[in-house]
Amino acid sequence: MSRFSRYALLSAACGFLASCSSVPQAHVKDTTRTFTTVVVDAGHGGKDNGAFRQYGGAEKSATLDVATRLARKLRESQFSTVMTRSSDVFVPLDERAAISNRQKNAIFVSVHFNDSRRRGIHGFETYYHSPVARNLAYRIQQHLVTMRGASNRGVKTANFRVLRKALYPAVLVECGFLSNRSEGAGARNASYRDELADKIAEAIVDERYGKGTYRAPQTASDSADSSGHTE
Ligand SMILES: [Zn+2]
Repeated sequence: MSRFSRYALLSAACGFLASCSSVPQAHVKDTTRTFTTVVVDAGHGGKDNGAFRQYGGAEKSATLDVATRLARKLRESQFSTVMTRSSDVFVPLDERAAISNRQKNAIFVSVHFNDSRRRGIHGFETYYHSPVARNLAYRIQQHLVTMRGASNRGVKTANFRVLRKALYPAVLVECGFLSNRSEGAGARNASYRDELADKIAEAIVDERYGKGTYRAPQTASDSADSSGHTE
């Protein structure tokens, strides 16, 4: 093979792979258009309270409640869900990532609440590490900021362990500041937590099936309907 044709072959291969120089984290599989399972990670738990603030209570309780609601809504939208914890137990960060990485075709969504020494600080933040999770992060953030009184602290990249270790697209959502009077009160309020879960669920369904495909679960279940209503 001549020098020239070898070069031509190499550059053809590079063209085919879109870009040779920018293939960051090739180990993260882009499942954002195919995923069937959502791994829902309730931040902290057990001996790890997370943030604990006067207004919002323990972060680990608020995250578990939002995560549980989120998983339920996703199941109602026909996804399989796996929770990294479903009670007040401590699960190491590596184990959380491993639970996700064991799934067949998944994305990973970690639910947290924020904390600051400055009570005035408030707003939502969504984090990602691998670029394949970027769209999902933006979508979740876009939906969260439609909540009444919401403020947008932006989508950010971070080297968080649960994100860095993920083999699937992974995001971490900071659902407001427990240290802020208004958002802390929200975290203590069941309907506010349900709305947080609803916004995240809507973003996940949109990401997978396209905008506007999410149907918020009815408050009345089918079984209640059949026992109560007649046409
Ligand atoms: Zn946290």
